Amino acid sequence: MKFGYSEACLAHDTGGRHPETPDRLRAIRELLARKHGVEYVEADPASRAAVEAVHDPDYVAEFREFCESGGGNWDPDTVAVEATWEAALRSAGLAQWSAETALDGVDGRETPFSIGRPPGHHAVGDDAMGFCFFNNAAVAARHVIDSRSVSRVAIFDWDVHHGNGTQDIFYDVGDVFYASVHEEGLYPGTGEVGESGTDAGEGTTLNVPLPAGAGDPEYRDAVDEVVAPALREFDPGLVLVSAGFDAHRHDPISRMRVSTDGYGMLTARVRDLADEIGAALGFVLEGGYGLDTLSESVAEVHETFDGRRPVAPDGEANEDVRELIDEIRTDHPALND
Ligand SMILES: [Zn+2]
Repeated sequence: MKFGYSEACLAHDTGGRHPETPDRLRAIRELLARKHGVEYVEADPASRAAVEAVHDPDYVAEFREFCESGGGNWDPDTVAVEATWEAALRSAGLAQWSAETALDGVDGRETPFSIGRPPGHHAVGDDAMGFCFFNNAAVAARHVIDSRSVSRVAIFDWDVHHGNGTQDIFYDVGDVFYASVHEEGLYPGTGEVGESGTDAGEGTTLNVPLPAGAGDPEYRDAVDEVVAPALREFDPGLVLVSAGFDAHRHDPISRMRVSTDGYGMLTARVRDLADEIGAALGFVLEGGYGLDTLSESVAEVHETFDGRRPVAPDGEANEDVRELIDEIRTDHPALND
């Protein structure tokens, strides 16, 4: 893969005991250094206009002033220092780079993956939350629709948390489809099946809230039977993966059971789907808080594009998940017209 990376993202210092630390990027790069075919690209920071296309200018100004005055706790979880402003613009710029590179036709072994931080998917239009300041994937999606010949973008969010910010930003618009598979009841508590979009965005939000303990077979079925059919129907020109790795069975902050091989399986499915529907494909890093599992899982994504065959999950999805999937297939407006 081609990885988008900026040293500026390391300077967003969250303090010694915060899970979202610069060591996450260091761990990824350390492990990737042992792999072949890894290329790094530094991207320009996002412009203020690109950020303000999805965020309230008053919020953006307030966040900038907060950083300029030294930062601190925006909320109990979400911490900034002076350098966070630049890191956040870089992180959004890297996501734009991923989207634009994919739309330039770069694919296969060179598929783009931006590894910026702070992450983005909890940031709503007018506020930071959940370690996120700018919604990187949302900035990228809106930017390419505004500046490129792509009219529809799908964001598939497999981070263990629901991307409430991405959902919120695009809830009432029809040109960005947001699909999330996440752990039910985990922070921030949103992402129920019935949240499916409104007005022009009716049916363009799709949530699969899996119960704690779900693993590879459950994720496989959620993608094959719900996410993939909905994206086929939506027919986007670009699929962006909001790629968090905190559903890993050894991640410290979730109870999900996705394996490292499972991330390869998900990657191969998304890649094959994008190929099938003729969509460009780019990846944007979200969460993932076990340094070993995060770096191994990112390497697994890389190796999948480098020719590694995915390992098929063992076994059937559990009954509760089968019922959930059947419910979504029956009731969701994206799967029923
Ligand atoms: Zn997460």
